[in-house]
Amino acid sequence: MMTDELRMHESTGQGMGLIDPATTLIENNLSGRILVIEDRVESVAWFASALTLTHDVSSADTFEEALVRVKGGDYDLIVVSLGMRDFDGLRLCSQLRSLPEGRHVPILVVVSDGDRRKLTQALEMGVNDYLTRPVDKNELVARVRTQLRKKRYADRLRHNVQLSLEMAITDQLTGLHNRRYMSRHLDTLLDNARKNERPLAFVIMDIDYFKQVNDTYGHDIGDEVLKEFAGRIAANTRGIDLACRYGGEEFVVAMPDTDMTSAYNIAERLRQSIETTPIKISRAPGQLNITISIGIAKAEGEGDDADQLLHRADQALYRAKRTGRNKVVADAA
Ligand code: GH3
Ligand code: MG
Ligand code: MG
Repeated sequence: MMTDELRMHESTGQGMGLIDPATTLIENNLSGRILVIEDRVESVAWFASALTLTHDVSSADTFEEALVRVKGGDYDLIVVSLGMRDFDGLRLCSQLRSLPEGRHVPILVVVSDGDRRKLTQALEMGVNDYLTRPVDKNELVARVRTQLRKKRYADRLRHNVQLSLEMAITDQLTGLHNRRYMSRHLDTLLDNARKNERPLAFVIMDIDYFKQVNDTYGHDIGDEVLKEFAGRIAANTRGIDLACRYGGEEFVVAMPDTDMTSAYNIAERLRQSIETTPIKISRAPGQLNITISIGIAKAEGEGDDADQLLHRADQALYRAKRTGRNKVVADAA
């Protein structure tokens, strides 16, 4: 069911042009890292000899070692014997399933022929497949290959879906969040600020006379300026601040837990750094001097929403532009 769901997301991602279909092809390399969990030496040796030709096989013979290995190793398949002398393979399977590192690794259990009760329990626990003793070597090789193929496919799907989700909320030019993400996330930030009675500052920035940069040096140089500007914003804000490219050459930062005075200082520092440190460009003259104008506003508690906050910040920015640019203006409220 999970694979079906991922496949659906992936095809949507492809439809939106977010995923390159070529990257969804599975390579035919079916060699994997396999962990054999078994405490009988002869049995470990048998599994190793059957699998090492194609795979990278390691083993663990205690409960603790098995957990440590799975936590630390990037395994493609775990083979668990259910007939160990010193510990219960079933209990181990259930532990492995609860580990973040073990959740997506297929488990193949080996059970004595006729031990239906154990086998049923294992399957109920969500192990992926089983072999019965005495194990046939060809059957082992075939079942291992099938599990590896399925895992490759699921890994690829998960990766692509993750990628398309990230791309859907990221501005492609600058790597900052995009406007769509900001709009959604700002509501949450406002709710939290209200609930916890904490301040929230909102900063909007716009490059001065940016059109001239494009007109003089070309659109591609304009893009370089935007990228570096975005990098400076990221460098001057904290991890919890939400920095976004809001539009063409407009950027916004929502700053939780920040009052107007701090926000003003942060904005002023950024403004000065842009004014005094030229932006590097890849063509002559090698660097450009630009300036920015900034408007800031704060959340107003009950009844205030994202639109109003944005509007107040925008008004402040407009005043900064109208009264000479290259300055920070705080909303009067
Ligand atoms: P002001 O000081 O009033 O802000 O003047 P300005 O020229 O910066 O403002 P205006 O809004 O008139 O121009 C913004 C320009 O930004 C116009 C547009 O060509 C440019 N722009 C918007 N998006 C992009 C982009 O992705 N790349 C580049 N290179 N330019 C962009
Ligand atoms: Mg603008
Ligand atoms: Mg501008």
